[in-house]
Amino acid sequence: MTGHYDVAIIGGGAAGLMCALTAGQRGKRVLVVDHANRVGKKILMSGGGRCNFTNTGTTPANFLSANPHFCKSALARYTPWHFIEMVERHRIAYHEKELGQLFCDISSKLIVKMLVDECHAAGVRIETSCSIERISHGEGENASFRLHTSHGAFAAPALVVASGGLSIPSMGASGFGYELARQFGHAVLPTRAGLVPLTLSGKHQERLADLSGVALPVTASCNGQSFSNFMLVTHRGISGPSILQISSYWQPGDDLRLDLLPGRDALEALQQWQHERPAAELKTVLGEVMPKRFAQRLCEVWLPNRPIKQFNLPQLREIADVLSNWPLVASGSEGYRTAEVTLGGVDTDELSSSTMQSRRVPGLYFIGEVVDVTGWLGGYNFQWAWASGHAAGMAV
Ligand SMILES: Cc1cc2nc3c(=O)[nH]c(=O)nc-3n(C[C@H](O)[C@H](O)[C@H](O)COP(=O)(O)OP(=O)(O)OC[C@H]3O[C@@H](n4cnc5c(N)ncnc54)[C@H](O)[C@@H]3O)c2cc1C
Repeated sequence: MTGHYDVAIIGGGAAGLMCALTAGQRGKRVLVVDHANRVGKKILMSGGGRCNFTNTGTTPANFLSANPHFCKSALARYTPWHFIEMVERHRIAYHEKELGQLFCDISSKLIVKMLVDECHAAGVRIETSCSIERISHGEGENASFRLHTSHGAFAAPALVVASGGLSIPSMGASGFGYELARQFGHAVLPTRAGLVPLTLSGKHQERLADLSGVALPVTASCNGQSFSNFMLVTHRGISGPSILQISSYWQPGDDLRLDLLPGRDALEALQQWQHERPAAELKTVLGEVMPKRFAQRLCEVWLPNRPIKQFNLPQLREIADVLSNWPLVASGSEGYRTAEVTLGGVDTDELSSSTMQSRRVPGLYFIGEVVDVTGWLGGYNFQWAWASGHAAGMAV
């Protein structure tokens, strides 16, 4: 046996490091095992290298889960302000980008350094490039978990699974946590890529492909959710914040609609143009409120293009309906290769929402993205990682 610990944590990502430093500060002997050659790789690449480390407006409504109540307790006990306090204590400069989204001024590296420094100060042992061959669990109340790894064997009465989701396999993502959950009898809800660009195919792709790079504000709606932000036409489909957000609510075959004049009443706008600029063509007036090439394509494929005075009221209504309810037929998503998160995961039904502990196997905990709790774009996923990591770190 190479070592006995109070807690063994699988995965040195956002949730694992937070759990480790919290438990370490409570005097627990903590081991973190990660198969990657360094910890916190996703933190490093997050937010374009500047880590959108939290969102000050975080509420349970910003998360998707089969049980929308599950995240409430942990989020209430470890708020964005708790994390900001640590960031400020480490003198990491940050700024607010969009509403509530906090980013580092300089680099995400500072967030990883802060977490690792806190871990070291709390005596946490971190083993990187360490692959886990097998995990076993003895019988009885005080049984330990035994980790058989490439660096030897370790034992601990508490095992925290913080191995993340399936997105970006090149960064060390693996399905390990889901397999482990099943090994211990936990249900795993179906997983799929979230916060991911959508792909178009056939004529839907051909109609937009040459507009690759064009961006415009839209409101994207699907299955009762709406997000207003930019959409970006890509080579293979559509992306941009509004599309990434709605992608988590969309599945193939679902009706996805875009309001191309967000915040405006399309019929009122058309009537105003008809009144003020009767001789102007539809594509000309639209090209003044959205990228010209996009307006032109709309008027080639989806809308009639004539001087605006030539449309009667029913025709204006039809045009308004297309503009505010434009149907976009996506064929799929870019998948885990580019997705920011994984939806679904370890079913929360058999976890305690205050400690993240398994109700099936005492001493077993699941935290972070491996759990069926997924945040919107904008710092919410890290806030869940911090909050769930803290909850388990206080309980182990
Ligand atoms: C490109 C990108 C940008 C993002 N930007 C943001 C952002 O700005 N703000 C935000 O809130 N969220 C962002 N996210 C999402 C966020 O990174 C994740 O939700 C968060 O990192 C999840 O934390 P976690 O600790 O659960 O998992 P991770 O941070 O993924 O950590 C899991 C760890 O487990 C290790 N591991 C996996 N399998 C094994 C195994 N078998 N054995 C040992 N170790 C293993 C991995 O190497 C990894 O270190 C981004 C994601 C991506 C992909």
